[in-house]
Amino acid sequence: MSINLISKPIVDQELENLKNRCNKLKNSGIIPNLQVLLVGNNKASKIYTNRKKKFCESFGAKCDIHHLDENISVDDFINELNKISSDKNVHGTFVQLPLPKQLSNLEVEKLIPAEKDVDGFHPFNLFALLSDNKKNDYFKPCTPYGVMNLLKYYNIPISGKNAVIIGRSMIVGKPMQMLLTNANATVTLCHSKTQNLAELTKKADIIISAIGKPKFLNDTYIHPDQKNKTVVIDVGINTDQDGNLCGDVDFDKVSPLVYAITPVPGGVGPLTILTLSQNLLQAAEKII
Ligand code: NDP
Repeated sequence: MSINLISKPIVDQELENLKNRCNKLKNSGIIPNLQVLLVGNNKASKIYTNRKKKFCESFGAKCDIHHLDENISVDDFINELNKISSDKNVHGTFVQLPLPKQLSNLEVEKLIPAEKDVDGFHPFNLFALLSDNKKNDYFKPCTPYGVMNLLKYYNIPISGKNAVIIGRSMIVGKPMQMLLTNANATVTLCHSKTQNLAELTKKADIIISAIGKPKFLNDTYIHPDQKNKTVVIDVGINTDQDGNLCGDVDFDKVSPLVYAITPVPGGVGPLTILTLSQNLLQAAEKII
């Protein structure tokens, strides 16, 4: 029986800490303030942004969602983003992806000032990640850092281990590669052109999947001799053919073969929001 790497105990534990930090800020007259830009009517994006708002409010921060029209022009979008980001009472600004076609070429990560980039994608924050900056003066990318928190909480060793990441996006795969490398893992970053993916995953101590394909990773990707050794982290959030939420990993097939595995839902997802909240408080605390 594998260990079910649920995130609830991590979130519950950290929530108390966030409440205390938030109260301290409020006592100094600062209300941590996150502003989220949501463009269009993507159903999943609406759900994610509402979850972020609800979580921020649960520890006492302010969070507003600016719902912009699907057809908003590039200029109007930039104006709106600038207006929000330049407000001195705002500590964090976040643009929910994906953006509609007319905005998809915008380098949003450069439009938000580094000190309010609670998503952790401004070049300043990315460089700090690349250079393994040990000072706590930059914002970590939310999902990958959430995964690191999960591995730490469950005492899963990283140093010297072989990690295989599937998916090379800017928001998950690439920063995940950096965090694991900084933690002394040997990392293989895979993508859609990777040959013989199963040969690589079968040798991995840690597999992290972020591809966006429901139940893609099944038992054929796990070596039988690795039984009770491999740790599988499922970042994917997808819907299966019956419309149910599922990850990239076929949990029922993979779970009996591995040492530990994250469920979907209840695994990585809540940790992304947790890191965003930690980044928000870090941004607000810089002002004191
Ligand atoms: P992207 O669509 O940006 O990237 C997908 C990556 O998967 C690409 O690098 C692509 O390769 C690779 N890929 C696709 N098919 C295959 C394949 N058959 N074999 C190997 N690699 C493949 O996805 P995101 O990183 O934005 O998201 C990935 C998943 O994670 C989604 O389900 C998303 O919903 C979820 N997600 C979850 C979060 C959370 O909080 N839990 C946060 C962010 C995302 P190539 O580059 O060659 O095209």
